[in-house]
This record gives sequence, structure tokens and C-alpha cells, in this order.
Amino acid sequence: MVKPTVKAKRSDKQKSEPSKGQTRISSFFGRNAQNEENRCLPETPPKPITFEKPQEMSPDLFASVSNTPQEPLQWSPDFAAETPTRANTKNDCDPELVSIKPQPMRLMKRPATKGTGISPNPKKEVSNSKFTMRNVEVSHVRRCLTPKKEDRKMLLKELEAQFIPETTGKSLGDWFPKEEETDNDLLEEFLNMSPFKDVTNNRRDLSSKKASEIEKRLPQKYHRCTVVEVDRSEYPKSVRLLLRPENETQLQVCILRSFWMETPLKEGDTVNVECQDTEEWVIDGTQGLLVLHPDCLMSGTSVVAGVFCRRKAVLNELFKGYDPPNKHMVIGSLLHQVFQKAMKERVSDENMLRRSIEEAVKEPDILSQLYAISYSVSTLMEEAEAYIQPMSKWIQKHCRPNDTLQVLEVQDIEENIWSPRFGVKGKVDLTVEVKIHGKKKVLPLELKTGKASFSAEHKGQVTLYSMMMAERRNDPEGGILLYLKDGSMEMVSGGEKEKQGLMQLRNDLASHLNQKPIVDGEGSHHTLPTLPPVISHPRACPSCPQLLPCSIYQQSVEKFIPAPPHPMSDLVPQAIGHLKPEDFAFATRWFLLCALEDQAERDSSQMHSLWMPHCSKEKEGPGLQNLSLKSSKPSSLLSHIHVFESQMSLETVDQVSVGDGVIVSTQDGMFLAVSMGTITDLLPHSIVINLDKDLLALKELNGKQFRADKQEFLGSTRGICLSNLMRLMENDPVSTNLRQFIIHKYALFCFILMGNSMRSRKGKGLKKEIATKCRDLLRGLNEPQQRAVLHSLLVEDFLLIKGMPGTGKTWTIVTLVNVCVRLGQTVLLTSYTHSAVDNILLKLLGSVEFLRLGRASRVHPQVLPHSEAVLASSLSTLEELERLYMSKPVVATTCLGVRHPLLTRRTFDVCIVDEAAQTLELAALGPLFSARKFVLVGDSDQLPPVVKSHQAR
Ligand code: SF4
Repeated sequence: MVKPTVKAKRSDKQKSEPSKGQTRISSFFGRNAQNEENRCLPETPPKPITFEKPQEMSPDLFASVSNTPQEPLQWSPDFAAETPTRANTKNDCDPELVSIKPQPMRLMKRPATKGTGISPNPKKEVSNSKFTMRNVEVSHVRRCLTPKKEDRKMLLKELEAQFIPETTGKSLGDWFPKEEETDNDLLEEFLNMSPFKDVTNNRRDLSSKKASEIEKRLPQKYHRCTVVEVDRSEYPKSVRLLLRPENETQLQVCILRSFWMETPLKEGDTVNVECQDTEEWVIDGTQGLLVLHPDCLMSGTSVVAGVFCRRKAVLNELFKGYDPPNKHMVIGSLLHQVFQKAMKERVSDENMLRRSIEEAVKEPDILSQLYAISYSVSTLMEEAEAYIQPMSKWIQKHCRPNDTLQVLEVQDIEENIWSPRFGVKGKVDLTVEVKIHGKKKVLPLELKTGKASFSAEHKGQVTLYSMMMAERRNDPEGGILLYLKDGSMEMVSGGEKEKQGLMQLRNDLASHLNQKPIVDGEGSHHTLPTLPPVISHPRACPSCPQLLPCSIYQQSVEKFIPAPPHPMSDLVPQAIGHLKPEDFAFATRWFLLCALEDQAERDSSQMHSLWMPHCSKEKEGPGLQNLSLKSSKPSSLLSHIHVFESQMSLETVDQVSVGDGVIVSTQDGMFLAVSMGTITDLLPHSIVINLDKDLLALKELNGKQFRADKQEFLGSTRGICLSNLMRLMENDPVSTNLRQFIIHKYALFCFILMGNSMRSRKGKGLKKEIATKCRDLLRGLNEPQQRAVLHSLLVEDFLLIKGMPGTGKTWTIVTLVNVCVRLGQTVLLTSYTHSAVDNILLKLLGSVEFLRLGRASRVHPQVLPHSEAVLASSLSTLEELERLYMSKPVVATTCLGVRHPLLTRRTFDVCIVDEAAQTLELAALGPLFSARKFVLVGDSDQLPPVVKSHQAR
């Protein structure tokens, strides 16, 4: 076998060492996140990921635009500073970052004086030592650079009161700009004089000259590679990687230094590398990026959620949907909608904004969200009223010419961006073309409806979006963070350090989400993927929506609960005290099965062929190529029907079919996943797709060719299954009851159609008048079918009806539904597939009234007039919607559609699950929470549910 050649020499001669003061990621990203208690977790040893110390945001062109006193971008939530961490101790401070020698000047700190206005949090300064001092210093210089002359003297006084020049060749006044100088010149001079210039010179956009120099250092293209070898023998000086770049035969050496050494890499991993094009690639704390598992596109919000608690961020991804809707979400989505529309139409009048809110609350989407949380329209309007004036003022100020920031045009709303380069994806609230100090830029504008916090999470999100946006346009080098509640705004310009920090955080989360479960041959021993360590936060953990899965994992997988005074020592017993050992065994078994299935789904996924077409197993990829957009027209408020034409005949395509969800991208790959929707028609040379935005309105797409790829809902079934599992583990009567039947096998009732054996526990007995009332309905059934229906009425808790093909299961269900309705009972009818649900509904047409939930494109045309999509479209009040939801005795949906608002509030007398044997146990569980008793119908001898993992099977 020919040994692959290696381009660079093996030994790393470079002497550079990791900085001593590097602080563990969690020290910055959550209070006590890496404290003593956490370190003693045996099952989930915290990955030794380290991060450079956080840095303040680079002072830049944007700084003078923000309408709030700018705090530097610190990768730490506010409370992080309250508890001393390793970063706060003097000895741990990074010499590179904090005490650069020789120093032309050093500032010594005086005790913070209350009321000086130097810092909003004097406590924070003390605990953060020199590091905070530097932030304060830069923050003050920024304020001095503002055009307000009257502030200059006062600020100078404040600064002098706070710091004493220790050794200086210049007076303190020399640090401040002359009035006639421009901001950039002043900033440049400040940086030249600053003792911290070594730290700041790698940041972006200090001046356009510096930014271009930085850009020159980095290649435009990244290298996608497979890790062949990880050599940690020189650790802790460096880690040496042997990489195989995509489409190249020669191997490449890559040296990781600084916090990059802690990247959880192993042989066979895929990485994206960005660095200088030298013989040996080098990635350290000042240059380069490494993206681990780049095909795992994590949402920007999930990445920044890890700033606070990495464990919560991973659990949010795994148990997607377990977090119930709340009023903040509803207010957020309403105000986003209103502000986006107002910006698009450049409306700033308060009355018109009020009218816009009134119209938006009539939208079915908002109404159903209100229904789910039992919130009234009037209360929502009252809450929204407080936002009208700040929104109006901001639009008035920034949508017309001004000296600072002018929004010239809204280029897109909810722009969907996938970045396989950075392994992230996200939806940008507004993509705006702005003019800042005479320069035009296209930037992301991120809206927040909560209290203005300018937190690390929010700034990190904007930084990620600006990185992703650079994939499509010129690098925006930042973005706008706007709080609608008071109109406060900040231009976020994440420097290289911040970007590196975010990527390393993403890598850490991605490594957890991509861990493979290990099962021995017989399945008796297994190792589940680990979670990041728990944090110690007595205020946040008790109200964390992921407390239950977090606790169950500690109890049943990690088998370690931190001892007092760690808050988990009390919280875990409170959260899981009601569960029995069998419950934990059941949960662990399903954690494993879901992890195995998830792994199999990822292995077979074709999504990466969207950005790596040559990697597709099928020659042409999983979709239709070279489509020309011919027309588009609105089909509803939020969707547009598009007609695409193809040169090729589409008659024989088997990649997609009508009803499939598709992702539309430009053929050149520049605009990946620009829109998503459903195929509504497939003609010989054209395809009709209902998309979530109007592509013809996006001028950047003019003249482009498109491709449509079948959408894979990776992890969505896992999210629903695991969410159902957690609901089953909750401490409420419905869940306790279901655990009795499902886990503890309290009783098994089974009726076998066309067979002799029958086991069931009867209820109180069928009253004669009931039998009489339904006699005509039962007349068309044979005896076993009649008995199946009567037993369904008799049982108190549940019944399993097993019937082989041809035994009339569907007619038995139809009759059962009719009987229940005749007796005044309500029915929730479900199955795993849309077609199975509609198959029964077609037989119920004309006999009972029903409401079909689900996307219109997936509903049978004859059933469509009875669907929510049609019936709710004409409603404009919450009362009307409530009436619709409550009035129908029968509601039908698939097992995976159980997150519908209707099912969060309504409880049915009986739930019937058809094709139960073909439905995953946890998926079938969802509808059972909304009914007093249930009937499962199926044939266990038929095909089992589709499971990709052979080990899970
Ligand atoms: S309970 Fe605490 S440790 Fe657990 S996920 Fe939530 S915030 Fe993190």
C-alpha cells in the first residue's frame, strides 16, 4: 500500500505556547459553570475546551452610531462577573492580553467611586481586576469620541478620578481626541498610544486599511478536510493534526495552538480550516478558524444559548419542542411582524403602527398562539402599546437621512441563511442596506423585544449572522442589535477573537451532538453520548425548562448528582423524586434508541450534497436542478406560489413528488436554502412550489437558476419522541396514569379481531339504552367488530385492538367514531401518516363533523374544506377561533402534529390511534396526553415502524 505523502515536516518547531491565562469556556459563559462541583463529575468529564479571555468590542466606525453607552463585547453574561472565576484572579490573567511589557504607560485603578458614572456595575470592576479596567478605559474613550463636546470635560474628570497614570510620558489629556479630528483618526491615535494595542490589533474594522490587511492574511476559500491523525504528544504546547484536504491526495499538517488545542477532535472527523496558506497550517489565538463537523448546521440561537449553559444548549437541540410556548414568544412574534412590515413600507406614524398591530392580532397564526397560552387579545394589545412610540421614533430617525445611521432599503425579511463554512444556520430578522458615515453596507438587523441587556448572547447572535451574511455579500463586518422596547441600539462589530470564541463554542456543542452511542454486539452494554457539565446557578436552574431531562440524565446516565452546596443536590430530588427505577430504565433505553436512530439518520443524510454536490450518492443529488423561475403570486399572507420551468422532462423524476417539502437554493450555491415550501404540482416541464417568500421580489436573485431539494427533517422525529418521553416523566396525574400503563404494565387489555382470545377489563357495564341507541350503527359490522366497538366503550383506560389485514379495522374505527359522537363523546383521531388519517376521514364525510389539523398541502382535497387551514382563514377574533376549536366533536391529526395549540388545551373523551403498530411507541404517545382513554388499533404482525438503525431495531 502506498503511504500518503506529507507536505510539511512532522515536528513543530514553533515555540509559541498557549497563553497561561486562558480560561475555561464555562468560566466566561456561565456563573460557576466550571466551578469545583462541576469538575468532579465522573461520567461527563468537562471537555477541556478553553477560550481566550473575552475582549471588548473593537472600537470602530460603528461605535458612534449606537444610541446607548456602549459596553465592550464581553463573552460573559452579567452574573458571570458576580462570582469570582479563574479569569478574575490576577495570576491567571493572560499576560498577552493584560500586562504587555514593556508598557509605555500603565494605569492603576482607584477604588470605584459610587456615582461617577464610570461603570454601571462597580462590583464588576473590582472582581474583574485589570481585565475590566481595560474595558472601562476603552468604553470611556468611546464616549469621548462622541460629538457631544459638553461631555468631554466631564468624562475626562471621571477618568482621572478613576485612574492614576503610573508611569507615563504623556498627560492623560493626550489620550483624548482633539475636537476637530475625525472619529477614525482619533481612534487610530488612541490605539497607537494604548498599552493594549497588541491585543486590539487583530480586530476588524479599526480602519478600513487594517481590515483589508487582516483579510489579505486569510484565504478567501476554506479547506474542507478529514482528520487523519491527531498527535497530542507535544501537548500543552500544541496539537499537531494530519489532514486530508478534500479532493487532494497529499496530506497536510495543521498545528493548533492556544485554546484550539482543546478542540475535541478525533480521526475521521470532518473539519473546515481557515488559515494562512503556509507550508504548515497554523491556527492559534490570533488567526485562523477550525470548524468541527461543519455539516452539522446548528442554529445561531442554539450556539449562543451555550454562552450561558452549554448543557442547556445541547438539551434544547435534543428535546426540541419540550419548552412550552409563553407570552413572551407571542409578543415577540407579533412585534417582529409589525416592525418588519413598517420598515418595509417605511411607516413611522404611531396610529398606523397601532392599526398594524390590530391587523396582525387577527392573523390565524397569532390567534392560535394566543389560544395556546390562554391570553386575551386586549392584554396583548396593552403590552404591545408600550412599543409603539419607541418603534415610531426609531423608524423616523433612521429611515431618513441623518449623520449616523440611515436605513436605505429593506432587502429581505426573515432571510434564511445556511453556512456550511461555519456550520451554522439562522433567520435574520431584517437584511438592510444602510449608510453609515457615508458608507453603504448591507447588514443584519436583529430585533429583541425583551429588556435591553446587550448581553453576550445577543451580541454573539448578531456576530454570527454577520459572519453568515458574508457568505452571500461583501463582509458586513457587524450588524445592528435593536431593542424595540426602548429603541436602544448598538452596532455590534465582533472582532476576530469573538468569532474564534463563537466557533469554538459551536465546535464544543457540535461535538456533543455528533457523539456516537456505543453498543456491544448483544446490546447488553452501551455508552450514551455525554452532555456538557451542569452549571451551578441557584436562580436560573430552578426555572430552566430543561431541568427534568437534565436531572434524569444526572440520575440515570451520569449516575452522579453534585453534593451540597451545589444547587443540583436539592433540585434533582425535587425534579425526579416521583419517578421509580423502572421509569429511569425506560428513559435510558429510549435515550439510547433515539441516539442510535439519530446517528443512522445523520449517516444516511444527503443534505450535505447541497453544498458538496460531488459527495452525493446519487449522481444528480436529491433534487431537481437548473430550474428557471417563471412566475410567483401570493397564496396567503406568508406564502407564494412559484412556477419553475425545467429544460428536462420532469415526468420521470423520482427524487420528489407532490406534497414533498423542498428546499430551494440558487444553482450556483451562493444562496443556499433561500426559501422552503411544498410541491403542489409537478408537470412535464414545470414544477409548482408554494414557498415561504416571494423569490421574484428579491433582486439579488434576478436571472439566477435554481434547484429544489427534498427537505430532510433531521432530528425532528427525535425531538418529538424525546419531548413526549419527558412529558411522560412529568409529575402530573395524566403522566402518572400513562406511566402506569406504559412502563409498569399495570394492566394489558387486548381485543383480537377475528380471533378467540380476548382480554380486557370491563368498565361499569354498558347500559341498555346505550346499546339501543347505537344498534343501527353496529348493524353493518360482524360480531368481533361489534364486540371491539362495545369493549372500546366499556374500558376505562385503554384498549388495544389487534386485527390482521382484511379484518375490517378501518370500518371498526369509523363505526367507533360514529358511536362515540352519537353518545356525545369527543374523539381525537390520529395515525402516523396523513394518508392514513384522511383514509378514515373520507369514510366519515357526511356522518360526523370533524376538524382536520395539518398543512393544507398534505390534506386530501376532499377533506380540505374541513381543515383548519380553510376554516380558520376567514376568522379574525380569538372567540371565533376558540369556537371552531371547541365545536367539532372529532379532531384529526397525525401523531407528529400533537404540538398544535388546540391539543394543549382541549381534552377528548377518547383518542383513537390507527396503524399503531407502525408508529414509534414514543411518537404514538403524543396524542394520548390529550384524552381520558385511548384505543390503539393495529397489527403487530405487519411491518414495524421504519427504523433506520439496525442496532435500534
Ligand atoms: S438545569 Fe441548570 S445545568 Fe441543567 S440545563 Fe438547565 S441551566 Fe443547565
